[in-house]
Amino acid sequence: MTAQLLPRQTPPELSPLELQRLHSRIINDSDQGILITDAHEHIVSVNAAFSKITGYSFDEAIGQTTDLLRSGVHDAEFRAKVTASMAGAGPWQGEIIGRRKNGELFPQNVSISVVRDATGNITHAFSIFSDISVLHEAQARIVRLANFDDLTGLPNRSHFIQLTEVALASSKRTQQVGAILMVDLERLSTISDSLGLDVADELLKLISQRFRLTLRSADVLAKVGADQFVVALLNLEQREHAGIVAKKLLSAMDEAFQLAGQLVHVGVNVGIAVFPDDAQDVATLLRCADVAVNRMKAEESSGYLFYSAEMNQRAKEKWQLEGELRHALVAQQLVLYYQPKVSLHTGEIVGAEALIRWRHPVNGMVSPAKFIPVAEETGLILDIGSWVLDEACRQLRAWQDAGLHMPPIAVNLSARQFDRLLPQRLWAVLERHQLSPKLLQLEITESLLVRGAEGVISIMNELVAMGLALSMDDFGTGYSSLSYLKKFPITTLKIDRAFVIGVPADENDCAIARAIVTLAKQLRQELVAEGVETPEQMAFLRGLGCDQLQGYLFSPPVTVPEFERMVQSGAKLALG
Ligand code: C2E
Ligand code: MG
Ligand code: MG
Repeated sequence: MTAQLLPRQTPPELSPLELQRLHSRIINDSDQGILITDAHEHIVSVNAAFSKITGYSFDEAIGQTTDLLRSGVHDAEFRAKVTASMAGAGPWQGEIIGRRKNGELFPQNVSISVVRDATGNITHAFSIFSDISVLHEAQARIVRLANFDDLTGLPNRSHFIQLTEVALASSKRTQQVGAILMVDLERLSTISDSLGLDVADELLKLISQRFRLTLRSADVLAKVGADQFVVALLNLEQREHAGIVAKKLLSAMDEAFQLAGQLVHVGVNVGIAVFPDDAQDVATLLRCADVAVNRMKAEESSGYLFYSAEMNQRAKEKWQLEGELRHALVAQQLVLYYQPKVSLHTGEIVGAEALIRWRHPVNGMVSPAKFIPVAEETGLILDIGSWVLDEACRQLRAWQDAGLHMPPIAVNLSARQFDRLLPQRLWAVLERHQLSPKLLQLEITESLLVRGAEGVISIMNELVAMGLALSMDDFGTGYSSLSYLKKFPITTLKIDRAFVIGVPADENDCAIARAIVTLAKQLRQELVAEGVETPEQMAFLRGLGCDQLQGYLFSPPVTVPEFERMVQSGAKLALG
């Protein structure tokens, strides 16, 4: 069967006026905004939808340029394209961000064309646009849903991988170390079973907030499973520091959550994979961290575990050391030894440095080089530092009470002890032991200066005003420059042993020692050479103009009775 064409019906003829009215109705009733400009880019007509979308009435728009809707977010190149199209360069279609009368920005889908007269000259340009903000919001929501956890607002697994992959790529270039921590919540399903899903959801939100507050802003926190979070630490000084962060996350759960009128405790386990040691890509690192956390979960208690056995061993040793050190402080296993400083002008003992020692009941004497870094990391240095100050002052008082004439004592200060309250604390210690500040010197390291300079200077000034003298320890190993050093009220520089070892044989070390001495002389500072072991070293440093010597050549750090004997007997360095 063939289709039969119906006879065509001739539409009723429209008069030009009727046609014009019809066009005008269509333009005005359209739900797309329409804007018409003349050859001089002035608006000559807009429709009702224009007013509805932009907020400008017909009268407000007429006579203006299209700048009326300009949002200011597009660059010059983009605007040039749009203007060119309005000037006849050809039709243009795309997205433009406009600004409504009420100031609100909105995305619009725009088509621009021109109208020409019989001779081809442009008489008008027009743009037809629709408001697509609703579409944009929907798209943004899709992106949010695809990348973030709905409940906590944290990145989800796939977004976490994206974020971390980019960061790891740059860490690879700069040879930084990092870690991925898998954080697994215990008992979450029991909680949602007994208290309900809403309560469990609320709990997850609170947990994510606690974790976020515990971490630094540069650390990436994501939620990767119903009861799993993951953390990326992208720039670690040392691999072991991942353990410190894990411990912080564990402590963040110490306090119970108040939920639905109940106190809820949540235990967590943390598995740690280290970059680049365990793996170099995020997917494998996540797997390693997962393996570690599952091993941890198999244990009875909550805690953290590294993926690598070697890291676990180290973490264990450090952890043990920390516990023992805490105990050492109360069990009075810490003692101060004193290493004399002698004048290179007279050979006499002019001071001493108090150096901490740990009399370990099993391991014997432990060097501070082994435990001070752990104390620094764990914050235990604050308690140890207070003990050292108190002990040195107690000793000075005891010497005075015994009528002994002893030189001033220098005490090492950790950068962590250096805060606003330090002058107050020192004042209290001196008060307690009825000591003159002249008897106490403080040794600080360069790292302190490089850190927060301004606050540090004012604290130093306070200390100096109290009558305490400041020495710069390990000088030459940090970043201090001459101009930098001038800003600080320091009276003594101690040349680090590293430069003393090589003199006078090593030309480089000699040059450095010479430069440091010259520098110190310019700053009119007293100069102490540390770690001097041979007469040759002494002769060279003395020749350069060093003022004092501290080192095995004269004496190692010794106990109190030995130091007393030395001072009492008037022991002197043979200057040769
Ligand atoms: P430091 O303040 O630079 O102390 C000098 C170190 O060099 C001491 O090591 C000392 O025993 C050693 N030394 C001195 N003369 C010689 C020598 O001729 N040859 C050699 N090879 N070594 C020499 P020590 O006692 O092991 O202390 C190491 C570091 O531990 C100290 O370096 C200091 O930074 C820190 N420290 C020690 N006691 C304390 C303390 O009470 N508080 C703080 N915050 N740090 C301390
Ligand atoms: Mg020192
Ligand atoms: Mg030193």
